[in-house]
Amino acid sequence: MIAIAGAGLAGLSAACHLDGLEHAVFEREREAGGLCRSLERDGFSFDLTGHLLHLRRPHIRDWISSLLGDQLRESSRHAFIHSHNRRTPYPFQVNFHRLPPAVVRECLTGFVNAWTARRIDRRQGEPAHLSEWIERTFGAGIARHFMTPYNRKMWCRDLDQVSCEWVSWSVPQPSLHEVVRGAFGVEGREFGYNPRFLYPRRGGIRCLPDALAERAGEIHLGVAVESINLRSRRLKLSDGTNPRFDALISTLPLPDLVQRCEGLPEAARRSAAGLRWVRVVNVNLAVRGEVAPGAHWIYFPESDYVFYRVGVASNFSQGVAPHGCSALYVEVSQPSEEPLVADLTQRVVADLHRAGILEPQHKVLFSLPVVIDPAYVIFDRHRRECVPALLSLLRDRKVHSIGRFGAWEYSSMEDALMAGQGAARVLKASLTHVPA
Ligand SMILES: Cc1cc2nc3c(=O)[nH]c(=O)nc-3n(C[C@H](O)[C@H](O)[C@H](O)COP(=O)(O)OP(=O)(O)OC[C@H]3O[C@@H](n4cnc5c(N)ncnc54)[C@H](O)[C@@H]3O)c2cc1C
Repeated sequence: MIAIAGAGLAGLSAACHLDGLEHAVFEREREAGGLCRSLERDGFSFDLTGHLLHLRRPHIRDWISSLLGDQLRESSRHAFIHSHNRRTPYPFQVNFHRLPPAVVRECLTGFVNAWTARRIDRRQGEPAHLSEWIERTFGAGIARHFMTPYNRKMWCRDLDQVSCEWVSWSVPQPSLHEVVRGAFGVEGREFGYNPRFLYPRRGGIRCLPDALAERAGEIHLGVAVESINLRSRRLKLSDGTNPRFDALISTLPLPDLVQRCEGLPEAARRSAAGLRWVRVVNVNLAVRGEVAPGAHWIYFPESDYVFYRVGVASNFSQGVAPHGCSALYVEVSQPSEEPLVADLTQRVVADLHRAGILEPQHKVLFSLPVVIDPAYVIFDRHRRECVPALLSLLRDRKVHSIGRFGAWEYSSMEDALMAGQGAARVLKASLTHVPA
């Protein structure tokens, strides 16, 4: 039997691709979906922060279309950065022409200087940390006015403590030509991994895990994996049972998985205990009135706003809020080791008013705060050294640790679907292979 721990997208995708092999999914929550659940209240649907689908691989796109058909709608991104009391279209690095002239000059000359330095010294080694990568790639002005404060807020630490192996796919890196055109307000091509996205017409992102769960086979909800005995190959589950497994696909956060495994070397436990992450407090707001018309989400780099991003889900799906109302998701990042900030919702609402997102005619009907913990894994030298070794140690014991937190990475819904498919393929090949 193949046991799957966790019914998020990675676990559900694995289960859907294990057809023909005996398998069972164990999920500690009372519903499937993991981070892709949506909460319903009084006609509003709130994701655990906005979850927009960016499907870059044709085979995953085809699969999801076959599951959800016309339930998905495609939209073009309308995202902004709020700074200097105005909105700059995303991405900042090709749109800063709307900022005060001194800021435009600083951003443009900084970019040109950084570009020139790269041309003169082509042997610049790997940047040591995120701070250096930002300065080298975008120059001092873009760093100072957006990249550095935004990332510091999101990662909750100085950027010399964060490494930069995750940036290649997620941060748009325009050419000199594109930055100069942008500095003069000339519109260019679409940038970034998300210029268009898919989102369900009704009910929030949960329709995706719901559709997968129907095809995933045996799912045990409300049953947590408490420990994993790697010698007897038995799970200890919260319902008191001890099923035996031939292989385990785990989507639990890697440090948690390692602590729950009996039979791993002590050094592995110590190493896993050194992994770091941040949590996100997602304050969902139900509002009467139309909020920030035309904006899908807005980034907030400045430190006098408590949040780093605010999204208006009802601006990309009218099906998530009653007529005449708006559904907002607000994201506040916090170090996982610190206590939760008290009175966060009041602070969020006050800052939304100050930013001009909530206006006097708007009425907050209710708030629904959710803590996502872990939310973003910290990329640092320890992660780089220890995660590949831990994953390989587990794989040798037929434990495939996959997904955003299983592989301890910065990845999307599509990546989670791919990871589940990949793990199923590996196991199908190994368990059905008959030596000649
Ligand atoms: C703030 C934020 C915003 C995001 N926005 C987007 C976006 O817009 N677009 C996008 O593509 N991606 C987005 N993502 C990423 C996306 O949510 C994830 O990549 C994906 O949902 C991860 O799926 P998963 O199955 O790997 O993990 P999870 O969804 O975390 O699933 C793991 C499951 O394991 C269960 N579990 C944990 N412990 C146990 C246990 N002991 N026993 C049994 N079950 C257990 C959990 O309850 C959970 O259901 C976002 C992520 C975050 C944090």
